Order: sequence, then structure tokens, then C-alpha cells
Amino acid sequence: MITVDNLVKSFSSRAGSVRALNGVSLEVQAGSVCGVVGPSGAGKSTLARCIALLERPDSGAIRVDGTDLVSLDGSRLRAARRQIGVVPQGDSLLRQRTAAGNIALPLESAGVDGPVRRKRVGELLDLVGLTDKAASYPDQLSGGQRQRVAVARALAANPAVLLADEPTSALDPETTGSVLTVLDRARAELGVTVLVVTHDMAVVRRICDDVAVLEDGKVVEHGKVLDLVSDADSRTAATLLPGLD
Ligand code: ATP
Ligand code: MG
Repeated sequence: MITVDNLVKSFSSRAGSVRALNGVSLEVQAGSVCGVVGPSGAGKSTLARCIALLERPDSGAIRVDGTDLVSLDGSRLRAARRQIGVVPQGDSLLRQRTAAGNIALPLESAGVDGPVRRKRVGELLDLVGLTDKAASYPDQLSGGQRQRVAVARALAANPAVLLADEPTSALDPETTGSVLTVLDRARAELGVTVLVVTHDMAVVRRICDDVAVLEDGKVVEHGKVLDLVSDADSRTAATLLPGLD
């Protein structure tokens, strides 16, 4: 389970200070998929980057299975990072590496031996349905295929948690489906807890158990997708309802 408790994160620049997260609390059950939605600038990526330990919050706690990650340093911080796979916002693959080469990257960093690495990369390519694209470079892949490689890379080190930041933005509905299938398989077959940042309510409807709405660095609504749909006062209900069948 991921527990985020009263997370605060500000950024300072010449233009002044921005409080990107203003006391965010959130619980994500192990093995579930939680969506994070909200307007641009609400703090979604900052939240994902804090949970991924790529950004250190000013205060608050982030616990994965009970261990507070915020206070960790050095080798313990690096070990904790390996527990969390990240699909960053935007195009994140290395252009000079093939699909297989990109997926192998975290395994190389972790010092995994060649034969073990190749076997694992093969399994991951199979999981995301891209075995036939192992030797293709990012430029030779479609947007959806590139995102599936990014998901496979995020899963390479067997993380307990997968964070995906807008994994389907700029994809058409059909291609979106193939990426969502892969996220769903990660949860179902690997038991990974998934946090997915999205502006697409179709994504929430299709794969999320829970959804959190972020506005101005705060969670303004959080609950089961099915409960929110039937709650007349829910801010998300109106946007969730049209596509439910
Ligand atoms: P989007 O939907 O556009 O991706 P978001 O919800 O992911 O938006 P964040 O990227 O988390 O939003 O940004 C939240 C706020 O923090 C914004 O006001 C942004 O300008 C600011 N911010 C984020 N990262 C930094 C940074 N590295 N330096 C300064 N300000 C930042
Ligand atoms: Mg963002």
C-alpha cells in the first residue's frame, strides 16, 4: 500500500515561489489502480515525482508498505527507488537504443548479468506485446508502442509500485487501449500497485479502481470510481458518467 501524508512541496525561482503540493494525503491499496486527475498545474506530476523519489518534498510522509521513504538517504534511497517504476510524462525513451536496449537499461544499472538480463527483457517484451519489435528504434515505433516500451522499462526491476504520468496523452483511443491493457496486465499478472496521472476520463473508467482529483496542490475528491459515479455531489461524476456502459 502507498500512503501519502500531508505532502508539501514548493518550488522557488526568480519569479517567486510556487506551492505545487499544499498538503496532499492519499492512500492507494496494494494491487489496485488509482487515477490522479486535475487541471494543468494542479501538481499531478509533482506528486508522482515525489512518490518516485525524484523530488524531495518539503514536509510530509510517503510510505510504501509501511516504510517512510522521505527520510531515506544514500544506498537505502537508491534501493527504495528500485521499488518504484516510473513512466515519465512525454517521450522518455533513448533514441539511440532499441526497444530491447531501452528496457534493459534499469537492469544494466542494477548490475544484472547478460543472460539473466536478456531473459527478463524477453519476458517484458512479451508482457507488452512487442516481441517482434525488440530490435526497433523509438523512431520506428508508433506512439503507443513507444509508451508500451516505457512501461516495460519501468517494470524491468520488478517494482512494487508503477507510476505512469499521462501515459496515453497524444494517443488516439485505439492506441490508448493497448497501453491500458499493458497497465492492467502489470497489476493483474505482476501484482503491481499502479498510480496513473491522466486528463482522460476514459482511462479512469477503464482501469482505475479509485480516483483522486487534485486542484491547486490539494486533493479535493478521492474515492472509488463506482461510488463517485453514483454520488450526485461528486465533481467527477458528471465527467465520468457519459462513457459508462
Ligand atoms: P500538467 O497537467 O500540465 O502536466 P501538473 O498537474 O502535472 O500539470 P505540475 O507539473 O506538478 O502540474 O506543476 C505544479 C506547479 O508546480 C505548476 O505551477 C508548475 O509550474 C510548478 N512546477 C513544477 N515543477 C517545477 C520546477 N521544477 N520548478 C519550478 N516550478 C515547478
Ligand atoms: Mg504533469
